[in-house]
Amino acid sequence: MTTTRVGLGTDVHALQEGRVCWLAGLEWPGVPGLVGHSDGDVASHAACDALLSAAGLGDLGSNYGTGRPEWAGASGVRILSETAGRVRAAGFEIGNVAIQVIGERPKIGPRRKEAEYLLSAAVGAPVTVSGTTTDGLGLTGRGEGLAAVAVALVYERPDPVARVP
Ligand code: MG
Repeated sequence: MTTTRVGLGTDVHALQEGRVCWLAGLEWPGVPGLVGHSDGDVASHAACDALLSAAGLGDLGSNYGTGRPEWAGASGVRILSETAGRVRAAGFEIGNVAIQVIGERPKIGPRRKEAEYLLSAAVGAPVTVSGTTTDGLGLTGRGEGLAAVAVALVYERPDPVARVP
């Protein structure tokens, strides 16, 4: 029997006028950018945490945090691609990743397919991106920040030799 595992990830970053906005691997002109240790791409970061969580490989902080200066400033998509590689190296295949972005803008819908294509290529498995708002409430509703949640499904490769104990 193949064992499947789910993982969960969440990320929040502050928005700041005058910064370039990177979200779900795409640049969004005319939208305030996300402040962060890297590009602040909450969608990619939530997806990374979900994959790491599913595989039992810790979290973004333990894999790429301040103790790993070589990853400072890396794009969310680059970290996502690296994370997918680490999950596979640990003996898992990736089923899919679902991301939901929470905020007033940018609106995901018009560029959903573009984002899904790019992130799916980075992960090597289907990645879907949806959007929602909080009806004007909270930090995302006031436009102070953007949040994202993600879940990932992975399954253990049948070959036990390839799996880290
Ligand atoms: Mg982040």
